[in-house]
Amino acid sequence: MSVVAIVGRPNVGKSTLFNRLVGRRQSIVHNTPGVTRDRVAGTVRTDDGTFELIDTGGLVPGDDPLGLNDQVHFAVLESDLLILVVDGRQGLVPADEEVWDELRSHGRPVVVAVNKGDTKAAGENFDEFYALGAGAQVLISAEHGLGIEELIDELQETVPLFGTDEEVPESAIAVVGRPNVGKSSLINRLTGGPRSLVSPVAGTTRDPVDTPIVREDGEDLLLVDTAGIRRRSQVTDEPEELAVMMARRQIEKAQLAVLVIDASVGVTSGDLAIAGTIWELGRTVVIAVNKWDLLDEESREHLDESWERLDQILYRPLRVNISCETGRGIDRLLPAIDEALERFRTSLATSDANRLFEVATRRHQAPAPGGRPWNLLYATQVSSGPPTFMLFANRTLPRQDSYRRYLENFARDQLDLRGVPLRLVIRQRRE
Ligand code: GDP
Ligand code: GDP
Repeated sequence: MSVVAIVGRPNVGKSTLFNRLVGRRQSIVHNTPGVTRDRVAGTVRTDDGTFELIDTGGLVPGDDPLGLNDQVHFAVLESDLLILVVDGRQGLVPADEEVWDELRSHGRPVVVAVNKGDTKAAGENFDEFYALGAGAQVLISAEHGLGIEELIDELQETVPLFGTDEEVPESAIAVVGRPNVGKSSLINRLTGGPRSLVSPVAGTTRDPVDTPIVREDGEDLLLVDTAGIRRRSQVTDEPEELAVMMARRQIEKAQLAVLVIDASVGVTSGDLAIAGTIWELGRTVVIAVNKWDLLDEESREHLDESWERLDQILYRPLRVNISCETGRGIDRLLPAIDEALERFRTSLATSDANRLFEVATRRHQAPAPGGRPWNLLYATQVSSGPPTFMLFANRTLPRQDSYRRYLENFARDQLDLRGVPLRLVIRQRRE
């Protein structure tokens, strides 16, 4: 999925545009009690598909004259495309040029949104902005909703926003988690020391760098976007919302996610959000419970309590307790990854698949609303990674149907597929 960042000096209308594209402004409650702040990231849904949007204005304090700080640079670095918002009513000002001079070094394609197009001045000043030499321009009004479709069309023209899924290589592993849980430390442990870091400023290479792990005792693995993880780990105070969004991008590129959580903090809502994404995208998972060296009795209890929800979301995933500080448990991580991948790739002969679901329906009869029972006719596995079974029956079952859930869980238990997002496709056939 593409990521688009809205940039520009303060007060040009970035937040107004973000709200216009994402929907109603929702504030999010910060971890610190009593602190709320505006959202900085969101998903834009259009008729053609979805893309992710970052409001960099939400990443800087209001009194910053240019509205550029490290977090803005990192957000730009993580994005595919920029919307440079300028104030059409005021016309081109030196601050616009300064902002663009700073950001152009990242080499991202850009579309200029000349905002406040509801005013007469904006139309008159429109051509001035070509002096920036930034890219295509669109006249919009974020506040009144003018020119928004044209803007999206122009974005789409510049970079295909809704491109097809990249091919996911076999054994591609994403290390994901909230900021500061130890992702970068874990990668160092797994790959033997820090690699050269990619600078966030001029001359940065565009492509995220993956790191292969070549093994004698098992399958070779590819850690995806290790450069990006190291880079991000250097940003102090990375907004969690942004981190969760970036995790989605990494998970899309992998078959398995190592979800790193901080044992001393316990499972948080951010961890659960990432877990939900892993499940939704149909990837498998190993949880690395890191910073085990910091556990005391109290945090241990909290960890156990908060673990339950995560365990439910990911259907009892494989878990390894580790410490990147002391090295504890690190040697158990790769075997756990092997095991999770093996489960993920489970493949059943059609006769076995049939038997499995036949047993399931005999153990527990489907409810028969209106006296019309649900009858299974035939089952077969149609793909693996994740294992997906097609069931032909006298009628389909809705997604949230409890009997469907029973069938899924039965198959998962029988096949010992803990932590695997097994899928059922149910098709109607005449008896
Ligand atoms: P940001 O600092 O770039 O995020 O800017 P804001 O979104 O907070 O907007 C700055 C000011 O411009 C606010 O007072 C908005 O109401 C106003 N504004 C935003 N979009 C428009 C527009 O399309 N037309 C007009 N006339 N004012 C706008
Ligand atoms: P990232 O943001 O998830 O990549 O996290 P980092 O790898 O940058 O680690 C964040 C901080 O946690 C750093 O100060 C690490 O030294 C520290 N850290 C990482 N793993 C451990 C651990 O197992 N135990 C302790 N005590 N600290 C750790």
